[in-house]
Amino acid sequence: MTFSLRSLISRLFGRPPDLAIPAGLWRELLQGLRLRGGNYRESGAFLLGPKSDFRKITSIVFYDEIDPAAFDTGIIEIDGGAMADLWRICRERDAAVMADVHTHPYGAGQSETDRIHPMIAEPGHLAMIVPRFAAEPIRLEEIGLYRYLGHFRWALLRSSLLRPTLRIEGTVHG
Ligand SMILES: [Zn+2]
Repeated sequence: MTFSLRSLISRLFGRPPDLAIPAGLWRELLQGLRLRGGNYRESGAFLLGPKSDFRKITSIVFYDEIDPAAFDTGIIEIDGGAMADLWRICRERDAAVMADVHTHPYGAGQSETDRIHPMIAEPGHLAMIVPRFAAEPIRLEEIGLYRYLGHFRWALLRSSLLRPTLRIEGTVHG
């Protein structure tokens, strides 16, 4: 009950979230990460959406869809050549990469590797980290969301009532 009231207040008076994902895609994303990680290795995906200031996700590209070996070492590594496939998919879908997401075995803090290797090195790009290999239950407040500022610096995004970071659309949760 308190959740839906919070959500209602933020929708009525708040600013758009940093990232919005329809509930169906969110489920697909978490299931896909879980399946690929098998609860023992990291998995990840690019989140695509139309080019606009408001980052709304409309499709997912799991890393192994462009590089079948991406998860093989347990630490995510994508072959540089595979990025050409990503840009082709973006063109086909008339979309851009809004964010990337990957899992961690424990918490959602950025590792040194995460900080110095942005998947997309463009200021404004968002990186999401889902703890515990995306095992259920997933609580939104446990998810790490970081905005790339350039020069290997990042801002941790913090949610507030009037400024949600991540919004799953089509559910009562803000
Ligand atoms: Zn990481």
